[in-house]
Amino acid sequence: MAVPKRKTSPSKRGMRRGHDSLTIASFQECPNCGELKRPHNLCNSCGHYNGREIVSVQG
Ligand SMILES: [Zn+2]
Repeated sequence: MAVPKRKTSPSKRGMRRGHDSLTIASFQECPNCGELKRPHNLCNSCGHYNGREIVSVQG
């Protein structure tokens, strides 16, 4: 089995983990109903996208 020759230094470990941070999911207001929705996705509460109704939501 291949085994690393040297222990990874705290600096190298930190460089590797520099990209590991989680990002907060972005939301924007739906122009139709004002609910928060994911950008480029149709609205979960009213089913609108790009100014028209894609999916009809009852209630
Ligand atoms: Zn909406």
